[in-house]
Amino acid sequence: MRRVSFAFIPRGELRTFRRRVLSWFAKRKRDLPWRRTKDPYCIWVSEIMLQQTRVAAVIPYYKRFTRIFPDVRALAHARIDRVVANWAGLGYYSRARNLHRAAKEIVARHDGHFPREYDEALRLPGIGRYTAAAVTSIAYGEPRAVLDGNVARVLVRIGAQRGDPRAPTAWRKLEGAAEDLLARNSPGDWNQAMMELGATVCTPKSPRCGECPVARWCRARKLGIAEELPSARKKRAPVAMTLAAAVFLDPRGRTLLVRKTASDGALFSRMWQFPAIEATGADPKAALTTHLREYFRVTTNGHTTALATARHTVTFRNIRLEPFLFHVARLPHPAGSLIAPLNRLGRVPVSNATRKIAEAAIAHLLAAKVARAVIPSEARNLLSFSDRKNSPVTQ
Ligand code: SF4
Repeated sequence: MRRVSFAFIPRGELRTFRRRVLSWFAKRKRDLPWRRTKDPYCIWVSEIMLQQTRVAAVIPYYKRFTRIFPDVRALAHARIDRVVANWAGLGYYSRARNLHRAAKEIVARHDGHFPREYDEALRLPGIGRYTAAAVTSIAYGEPRAVLDGNVARVLVRIGAQRGDPRAPTAWRKLEGAAEDLLARNSPGDWNQAMMELGATVCTPKSPRCGECPVARWCRARKLGIAEELPSARKKRAPVAMTLAAAVFLDPRGRTLLVRKTASDGALFSRMWQFPAIEATGADPKAALTTHLREYFRVTTNGHTTALATARHTVTFRNIRLEPFLFHVARLPHPAGSLIAPLNRLGRVPVSNATRKIAEAAIAHLLAAKVARAVIPSEARNLLSFSDRKNSPVTQ
């Protein structure tokens, strides 16, 4: 007999509980592009994009990505820079790299088909328990329950469980509860229904208990503590830091980008970015010029302008970006660096911080009416990075 660990719903009522959830989902589910297909590739792409990202933000990216890379083979055979460039703006770029690596493995080991079995899916890069369960249950009907933040919140509230649900023991219990509740005859719909319930009704703030199909089983609602749950996680204290960045500009409107690896301790690992250094003292410009002299052998005694500062947040780091514009007759071009037109950075994978810095530089150039002299004429309205036309990039 299967273990039932979710004791707040009497065993005799489990069937009713499931039926209510499924019929609520059938009536109330949102019409989302990835719900119109059973193609495992599309479901997989959507699940990866939805990690840490809101549905509304994902929709245009999903549509474009699946148009440009319509199947696993198209993705597997694409150049990684092109894949990452089409991810630009979604953040968490390791997702795009893992997607690409996994596509290659699927072509090499699974004849281009996303694996049907949960355990096989788990072996792919970038696929954890949640994604493996979501894709295999939705696309193939594999009876595996998903547990993400939305589902966990619903379960925690139904059971009125206090404590940090992300703590390993609590999370394992919730995984057991999710498995016990799973409607095994329609696992794909069930998983989507539970996630939808958390996303649209049992929301973090102001849960709409009056519309909830499982309200009668919910202990948190009965106790009046729904909004207090889940208990807040202990957050790492934010760390403030300043990053001084160099925007080199040559007479052709081109700039220099570098790419660091994660082992450098770079904040934006493997993304193209402006040369930068964390400035710990009172003079970010001095720290930057020393860095440029030591690592790029560039002496910046020419025309230098402090650009508008910007704020950027990476996990617990609150970063103050302090960019400086350096007009140079000739750009340095160390090994592994990239020379690209400042107004064409949408063509290469750059971090959002790099975009903010580029925007500050371009805004300054336009305001100073320097743009006419140094930036190609078609780029007057260039405070957008959507431009994907060909232009010279030198690596
Ligand atoms: Fe969430 Fe309210 Fe439904 Fe309980 S009754 S699961 S708190 S929406």
